[in-house]
Amino acid sequence: MRKKLAAGNWKMNGLKADLHEVAALIAAHPTPKCDVLLCPPATLLAAMSMTAAGRIAVGGQDCHMAASGAHTGDVSAQMLADAGAHYVILGHSERRADHGESDEIVLAKAQAAQAADLTAVICVGETEGERDAGATLEIIGRQLAGSTPEGATGANTVIAYEPVWAIGTGRTPTLEQIAEVHDFLRARLIERFGAEGETIRLLYGGSVKPSNATEIFAVSNVDGALVGGASLKASDFGAIIAAL
Ligand code: PEP
Repeated sequence: MRKKLAAGNWKMNGLKADLHEVAALIAAHPTPKCDVLLCPPATLLAAMSMTAAGRIAVGGQDCHMAASGAHTGDVSAQMLADAGAHYVILGHSERRADHGESDEIVLAKAQAAQAADLTAVICVGETEGERDAGATLEIIGRQLAGSTPEGATGANTVIAYEPVWAIGTGRTPTLEQIAEVHDFLRARLIERFGAEGETIRLLYGGSVKPSNATEIFAVSNVDGALVGGASLKASDFGAIIAAL
């Protein structure tokens, strides 16, 4: 049985003054049925980890593929773990687009995450043009195969399906479209990793909010959500947690 996961991605948002949202979330949901994860900017990781005090998990939004070295401005997986992270988001479409991250780069980062005992939340997703061209499953299959390392398990890997056109737009795929991709991802994971592929959680991400969370979480092979905008406020994220 896969335990559901509600993961929040604060992106480039949040100052120390916003940590009261984390305290409020924990106070309002002291015993959530699902795992809860918040991924703040790197500057807030250590402070959020202190606020969370093990009640919810915290994670990074990216890491470098090397453990250390001459990489100005970068942060390694080991450094994230040292700051209190247990997860790291990798291959988010904003990283793939803004920083030219290929599947090979995401793969190397996921290997670094494994080595640092972080759970990698590996993101895959098609653009609107790719969906319109009928290439969704081909793109998703290629990203999954190219970005997921050998040795992936339910403990060290989570896959997030995030259609690029649904991120921050208020638009979501139909429930049938979500089911099609999640069932496809599950089949590919089992094909590659055998029974272990059954244990890897599959998150849906893209304009999840309190009003659509319940119906999305009922879709086949949806094991939770990766949430951007609606993870910033305890009230919204709390309602999504309660729907899981
Ligand atoms: C995201 O960026 O991972 C995301 C899903 O954003 P939003 O929920 O704001 O669409």
